[in-house]
Amino acid sequence: MTFRFTSIGNSSAVPAYGRIPSAHILNYKESYFLFDCAEGTQMEMMRLGIRRSRIRHIFISHLHGDHFLGLPGLLNTLNLLNHQKEMHVYAFPGLKELIDMEMRISGHQFRFPLHFHDLEDEETPLLLDEAEYKVSSFPLVHRIPCRGFLFREKMPPRKIRAEKLAEYAVPVEEIEKIRSGSDFLTADGRLIPNEELTREGRPPRSFAYVTDTLYLEALAERLQGVDLLYHEATFMEKDAQRAEETCHSTAAQAARIASMAGVKKLVLGHFSAKYRDLTPLLDEARKIFPETYLSAPGLTFDI
Ligand SMILES: [Zn+2]
Ligand SMILES: [Zn+2]
Repeated sequence: MTFRFTSIGNSSAVPAYGRIPSAHILNYKESYFLFDCAEGTQMEMMRLGIRRSRIRHIFISHLHGDHFLGLPGLLNTLNLLNHQKEMHVYAFPGLKELIDMEMRISGHQFRFPLHFHDLEDEETPLLLDEAEYKVSSFPLVHRIPCRGFLFREKMPPRKIRAEKLAEYAVPVEEIEKIRSGSDFLTADGRLIPNEELTREGRPPRSFAYVTDTLYLEALAERLQGVDLLYHEATFMEKDAQRAEETCHSTAAQAARIASMAGVKKLVLGHFSAKYRDLTPLLDEARKIFPETYLSAPGLTFDI
């Protein structure tokens, strides 16, 4: 039941101090969801031993170079390695043009099905609606159109109560029906409700990805109760003015969002190259929201 967030790159704008810009993997049951794909992403994935071939969905928040310049290289490599599985890219339209042009001038063609999905469509588009989870996007406030992403597991199936199966002598062939919500009729004609035969499964889990954005209080409502929130924290409080001018957030502002949204854990990233030591950003955030952590290349959080 893997649900694991791993940071690959957490720098803003330019690579600095061994940190590449934005790229993060969400591993859901061994399918990989890549959030942003900065230059250096595939090299860093190789270094960290994260398999590129497991990526199924790629979400590009916006078209600043520090969020997508690794994508042409990654797709090219997968093509050369004879990747066969479908790939879905969720991005603003210019990116498809760029990839199309790159293929045209190189005279290559993709050997795997590559689907682009336009993020411009609606206010809160549902990007993916699968049996076990859904992924939606929502607008952020940045210098160009930019979106955050919310991955929510659906309610897992209820768990069978073995002692009740024994008590009512439920035959094996009825168990699957009960698992999917059916009541059970006993041999002597009593109807046993499903709620008695099962108990609630574990609570559904969720992950939100927020970068790049101005401090945006409205997010708190949208992200209520999320298990893990990744939020950009480009600057420290002393540089709050700069954050506002460049449409970014400070670590403390990210913490305020986390606190108002009542999330369980906050992971900070997208750090400015101004700061070699990130501890002061962590300190500022933890004063407001103690369950805050710094992302780091290869650092993993189980959700
Ligand atoms: Zn950025
Ligand atoms: Zn940006």
